[in-house]
Amino acid sequence: MLLKHLLRSSLFLLLWGISLLGDAHILVYHRFGDSRYPTTNTSLQELRKEFTYLKEHHYQVVPLSTLIQALKRHQPIPNRWVILSVDDGFKSFLKALPLFKEFHYPFTLFIATKPTQNGYPDFLSWKDLQAIAPFGQIALHSHAHPHLGDLSDEQIRADTKRAFLLFQKHLGYTPKVYAYPYGEYDQRVKRVIESFGFEAIANQNIGAIGPTSDPHDLDRIAMVGRANLSQALRYRHLDALWMAPNHYPKDGILYQVKVRIPPRYHLAWLYVTGYGWKRFPVRNGVVQAKLNYPLHKHRVRVIIKVKHSKINAKILVRSRYGTQ
Ligand SMILES: [Zn+2]
Repeated sequence: MLLKHLLRSSLFLLLWGISLLGDAHILVYHRFGDSRYPTTNTSLQELRKEFTYLKEHHYQVVPLSTLIQALKRHQPIPNRWVILSVDDGFKSFLKALPLFKEFHYPFTLFIATKPTQNGYPDFLSWKDLQAIAPFGQIALHSHAHPHLGDLSDEQIRADTKRAFLLFQKHLGYTPKVYAYPYGEYDQRVKRVIESFGFEAIANQNIGAIGPTSDPHDLDRIAMVGRANLSQALRYRHLDALWMAPNHYPKDGILYQVKVRIPPRYHLAWLYVTGYGWKRFPVRNGVVQAKLNYPLHKHRVRVIIKVKHSKINAKILVRSRYGTQ
């Protein structure tokens, strides 16, 4: 009887444990309570609603460093971890800070150092940042917020170095994490940024963070306006190896997408900016879509999705410099 009970309770614990493991989500905000810029703004009312949702649904808002540590140690990722990040260092962050404090939610604030250094009024000053630092993590978002794809390796290095030195000088420590301006990068850009030894690098591809996620390629979900938070939190990380395209096509035409995913899926949905979602069969774990899509934007998102909202996304950026 006792043994039976023990077996049953351990099975319960095991299943319960599995259901708690899953994927973390990193959200990215820009401006707060600033209706001049509706495409990058989140009202304070909306932010309170989202924070309340997280609290009421027992999400655990953890510092980015906690996630990075778990990834580096190959530890399982709890299902209810949420990481909050804010890009650009706009002055309007000061309006949101009391809410972060009220909920005791940590955050990572990615700043571009040039607007701060030049004292642009719409941006946080070094003094503001020093006052904010005890409540969250401050991290790097370049110096001049350039489109990195348009810069040579040397220019990317110069921008990052300038940002690094200014950050160190005014905040007294070295930045540990970097987020690409506009979320734009390719393998060449990534390699140059990686050479600075950041613990983690964040992009702006829609997705979730699973145990196999690369700390140097962390997906973040943009929260703007009345974002659909519950949908965002439903996304799961899909392990995907992108075989094609590897970079923005030279002639501007996307001929094919080829992605390796776990072989248990038989159908996948593919999204390309400007072309919407289309369904494709998966054969032996490979999605191969023959397309003939002229690309009209300099930045194109390609997203692959299978059932249960498992998702993996890639960004293609037209670059003036090499594609490797
Ligand atoms: Zn930015």
